Amino acid sequence: MPITDSAADDSAADELSIADLQRHIRHMYFEKDAARGVDGTFMWLMEEVGELASALRGNDQQNLAEEFADVIAWLATIANVAEVDLNAALQAKYGRGCPGCSRLVCECPNSEKP
Ligand SMILES: [Zn+2]
Repeated sequence: MPITDSAADDSAADELSIADLQRHIRHMYFEKDAARGVDGTFMWLMEEVGELASALRGNDQQNLAEEFADVIAWLATIANVAEVDLNAALQAKYGRGCPGCSRLVCECPNSEKP
């Protein structure tokens, strides 16, 4: 299914950058997230990863999109609690291409992870 068919097209914000998302999550949940801490929050992330795995095996495209949203939201939550700037981390690691071979189209051998 083309990405343009996703439910996200109807949202108020057409595009939500990773920095926007992290700020948005912080604004909505930081007090609760900080009180729960990294360990408890990590458990929630793992639960959502499990739900994503189930959704990937199913046929419900809307549910699948929601599970992707949940996983990235919980990842942003943990980043807030752990004081990691996701935008800076992504720019530093992937902003100039593959971290393994430094190419914009990865040329790492297939035996390597990327
Ligand atoms: Zn590479």
